[in-house]
Amino acid sequence: MTEEGKEQVGTAPEVVVRCAACSKTFAPDLKLKTDPWYCPHCEAKNPNLRRLYRGVADVFILGLFFALVFFVRRLSQLGPAAPRTWISGFWILFLLFGVIRIYRAKAPWRDGVARTLIWLVFVLVFILNVIVRLFFLSSQDVALVIGSAIVYGIVFIYILWVLKVSRRAMLPEQ
Ligand SMILES: [Zn+2]
Repeated sequence: MTEEGKEQVGTAPEVVVRCAACSKTFAPDLKLKTDPWYCPHCEAKNPNLRRLYRGVADVFILGLFFALVFFVRRLSQLGPAAPRTWISGFWILFLLFGVIRIYRAKAPWRDGVARTLIWLVFVLVFILNVIVRLFFLSSQDVALVIGSAIVYGIVFIYILWVLKVSRRAMLPEQ
């Protein structure tokens, strides 16, 4: 904990962001669910970072459904002792940890663990679902690989945008 953090024990430390339009800082309303954050100095719309990160967590939740289907299938076909069943189980826990971490964070864009997790999940999913499939490509799989590459491309652009927007909103000392 930093010196500043110690001083603020007892009161919730204020979360401030930098306005994309006028560069002044302000404390956003973290309870806002859908609206953008309006800068009190210049009225400019700033993206609601908390909502954007929860959007990434929602993509993880979607991934969790697929992971559960794979896990149940492997459990019934390979049994509980098979390494592939274990990998599926660990993957579910990993995604769950990410979702909980992002949803519980007051300011997830300042949480280095959450940011690293987002990258890790994306890179692992991309390697396993696109790169590995390319090596074992059969003619029926081509559409599947192209389809998933497009989906991951869109998700990748979204994640890049979220990280770029949050870097812009962060103060240098964060
Ligand atoms: Zn402003």
